[in-house]
Amino acid sequence: MVSDVEQIRRVAAEVVDPEIPVLTIDDLGILREVRVDGAGHVDVDITPTYSGCPALDVIRADVARSVRDAGYPDVKVNVVLSPAWTTDWMSDIARRKLHDYGIAPPRERDAHMTLLKLAVECPLCGSAHTSEVSHFGSTPCQALLRCAGCAEPFPHFKEH
Ligand SMILES: [Zn+2]
Repeated sequence: MVSDVEQIRRVAAEVVDPEIPVLTIDDLGILREVRVDGAGHVDVDITPTYSGCPALDVIRADVARSVRDAGYPDVKVNVVLSPAWTTDWMSDIARRKLHDYGIAPPRERDAHMTLLKLAVECPLCGSAHTSEVSHFGSTPCQALLRCAGCAEPFPHFKEH
């Protein structure tokens, strides 16, 4: 028997990021908490990847619709800004999906926020000989880099 909270979490977890549709909000770590009270009122907490993220309204609407469609009409999607999201909340699956989508994932950091690798590796050929072309790419979360190995430009989801 699956509880209401588990069932709601499952459908909400499938909502994708409109900017990077290979990633679900669960992959990104922005789906925080689901609560259901005795009267059937559902609260879903999400934390945006950065404040002012233009995708946020779309994600909120998609989460509310998915939960309503699953049979829970009384749903409220709350935006929780604290603690602030960081790329460290991204799952390994999310990093792998980003890489396969052609976006260099955010580099992993240790507990002191020190990057475990200095180079951003090219998602196309794996070369570590890359350099930044533009700090802001197609979205503010991404930078545009160029690879010296295969000469291709590629986006990098920046650490923050
Ligand atoms: Zn390359």
